[in-house]
Amino acid sequence: MSNIVAIVGRPNVGKSTLFNRLVQRRDAITDSVAGVTRDRHYGRVDWVGREFSIIDTGGYVDGSDDIFEGEIRRQVRLAIDEANLILFVVDVETGMTDFDKEIADILRRYKKPMILVANKVDNPQRFAEAADFYRLGMGEPYGISSINGSGTGELLDKVVELL
Ligand code: GDP
Ligand code: MG
Repeated sequence: MSNIVAIVGRPNVGKSTLFNRLVQRRDAITDSVAGVTRDRHYGRVDWVGREFSIIDTGGYVDGSDDIFEGEIRRQVRLAIDEANLILFVVDVETGMTDFDKEIADILRRYKKPMILVANKVDNPQRFAEAADFYRLGMGEPYGISSINGSGTGELLDKVVELL
């Protein structure tokens, strides 16, 4: 297996919305990892003739803000183990949180290629807010809107370039 992209990030940043927007074909496999997370959804994406698998890492604990650090680490490590490229999603509506910084700290320790995705850039004004995520030290934030699709073409170009 190669060309696997995993979507990670704290709850409610729009990981599943992004997954649903990018996926053309949902694979039958949804895999439950006991004690770690709910189901992980797998899909296939075809972009300019390049095909890759994408994993929505689901969610940590549904609807709960009370998430254990250990659980975050397991989730992110699982994604890192499995994927060739990580999409680290953050949310310009809420701005940067300690939880984002914590996930960034985990990702930083690995050499896995990563793209920082600033989601909910629904209008041009919000590009400035996306730029604020430079402070995470994870490279250039790709401002996108998973709801209206803006920026997702550029993101996919970058994904296939890095795979
Ligand atoms: P997840 O927990 O990271 O999988 O987040 P979801 O995909 O479930 O989305 C959480 C909430 O954010 C939902 O209410 C979505 O409709 C909303 N959302 C997702 N993407 C966008 C976006 O690009 N713009 C806006 N305004 N809302 C979004
Ligand atoms: Mg989700």
